[in-house]
Amino acid sequence: MNIDYDIHIGDALSAAVGLTSQKSGQAVSEFMHNWLTSWDFIANASIFEVFETNQEKKVNSEDILFRRVSTEHGEQRLNNREPGLQECINSRRQVEIDLGEGCMRLLFKVKSKFGPLRVVAVDGKSINPQERFLCLHLIQLYENQINIYDEKERDALSGLLNRQTFDETLIKIASQVLEPGKAAFVAILDIDHFKRVNDTYGHLYGDEVLLKFSQLMKVNFRYSDYLFRFGGEEFIVLINDSTLEGAQEALERYRHMVENYDFPVVGKVTVSIGYVLVESSIMPTSLVDYADKALYHAKENGRNRITFYEDIKSDINQQIVEDDIELF
Ligand code: GH3
Ligand code: MG
Ligand code: MG
Repeated sequence: MNIDYDIHIGDALSAAVGLTSQKSGQAVSEFMHNWLTSWDFIANASIFEVFETNQEKKVNSEDILFRRVSTEHGEQRLNNREPGLQECINSRRQVEIDLGEGCMRLLFKVKSKFGPLRVVAVDGKSINPQERFLCLHLIQLYENQINIYDEKERDALSGLLNRQTFDETLIKIASQVLEPGKAAFVAILDIDHFKRVNDTYGHLYGDEVLLKFSQLMKVNFRYSDYLFRFGGEEFIVLINDSTLEGAQEALERYRHMVENYDFPVVGKVTVSIGYVLVESSIMPTSLVDYADKALYHAKENGRNRITFYEDIKSDINQQIVEDDIELF
């Protein structure tokens, strides 16, 4: 037997053990990416999540966007001009592209029942059939693992993370060390007068609004932010590694996007948002409670607006003092 082949099998086995011992979907993807880039016949590897913009018109191939799941390059949004991606999505499984100068790209489609469609892209010189075979088998293992985590971590309707994974993610984010001026924020997004949507158009169209609303979230926020469906028509964004201005801008851009979007049949829908700065000393439940108070403030002050908890904190504390005085 060829010695190179034995070495690859050893690598593949340790990768398989690594893949099955990760603790979250994100960790599985990061592990897969790191492992692929560490293999010497692979010059470059990327994992893409596929999502659709579908903003003004029906989805067609030009509307499909990809985002790169990568720890190194940070977030990148790509369109279907990235070589081979479009073809891979339309194919059944595996696509090979000649990149010229002896380089090739292999693309593998990774399907998930509860999560986004993903594409794994591997670039290299003269990848031999055995290496290709091992890649394919590991990617199949990756597909199995990511499906297990997507089912556990994601909401079936929107594909966003579910409430169960929120505390854990928030604790992880709150403990990270960031550059000065950078922070994380918890934002609660609640659709305005959503009962009316259901009452007027029925639950089916209500669900369609929730689906489009979550698609717009995926388009608007960064890959490094975490998106949750928290309950019926309540969503949370954990804005990560951002300045206060950056967070404000992202939320305002989203509020605008919803306001300007024409939801099928239902037409116009607006969203109110409350948000709070993440401090590691504050419990996750308290942070959600503060963001909720800010949301309530946005609702009380006309809806279709955004409130930062710090801006109303003193008013709320004043109210508590007045209520206490009334008790005596
Ligand atoms: P506002 O937030 O502006 O104060 O008004 P609202 O009408 O949105 O008020 P509220 O938050 O009390 O109502 C939420 C409604 O969302 C109640 C319920 O009928 C609807 N809802 C919750 N979950 C789902 C779901 O999964 N699908 C659909 N179609 N509707 C849902
Ligand atoms: Mg609500
Ligand atoms: Mg509501």
